[in-house]
Amino acid sequence: MSLKAKNLSKTYSSGLLREGKCIFREVSFELEPGKTFGLMGPSGEGKSTLGRIIAGLERPTEGAVLFNGNPLSGMKKTEYATFRRRVQMMFQDPTDAFNPRKRIENSISEVLKLLDTPRTERIRRTKEMLKTAGLPEEVLSRYPAQLSGGQLQRLALGRILLLDPEYIVLDEPTSALDVSVQAQILHLLKKVQAEQKIGYLLISHDEAIIRFMSERVGILENGQLDMI
Ligand code: ADP
Ligand code: MG
Repeated sequence: MSLKAKNLSKTYSSGLLREGKCIFREVSFELEPGKTFGLMGPSGEGKSTLGRIIAGLERPTEGAVLFNGNPLSGMKKTEYATFRRRVQMMFQDPTDAFNPRKRIENSISEVLKLLDTPRTERIRRTKEMLKTAGLPEEVLSRYPAQLSGGQLQRLALGRILLLDPEYIVLDEPTSALDVSVQAQILHLLKKVQAEQKIGYLLISHDEAIIRFMSERVGILENGQLDMI
């Protein structure tokens, strides 16, 4: 199972400039199961754009994303659905990840219903997920606003894990959290990765975080990806 970026270029068209704005050009890298590729670089250089492209949420202007060797652009519906389940994205602000009007319980069971999980099995899997994420069962009856950023980010990860992902794009996953909570989330990410052999693309502007988490590191700057 592999996930590769091959010669990706992205240009945003602009109403003013006929040429459009090239964000990056000819970017290639590969994610490996159980390992982290750290992507750093200054703000505005295209890290999030690249992350969204590899997760299939946005299309490249040129180049291809290959999942198990097959380009996303040529996939049949069922194959694409598998890709969308197996490659997940986790964002900076966990409050955006949950519907503020729904109890956590309902946001979680929605995912399991989509997977056609029977009711008794849903309860078992939800409890197991909370244990993995390091959360008490009480959070299930709460609304998102009643939980801390750290608890919500644990839940966001837990909900992703219910989908049994092979790869997760982590876009600044701790940047919205208090410094004291950041390390806890990073350790949780490492633990989960070791247990489930998930490959990460970790995006961060924080070099210390990238170095702590990653086997390989790339810098996206001036439209180019350089491995360091
Ligand atoms: P980073 O995550 O490294 O801060 P982004 O990927 O968010 O960078 O943005 C890279 C550049 O692309 C920025 O200049 C941003 O303004 C531009 N950009 C991002 N999304 C869009 C969009 N949908 N349309 C036009 N320009 C965009
Ligand atoms: Mg960004």
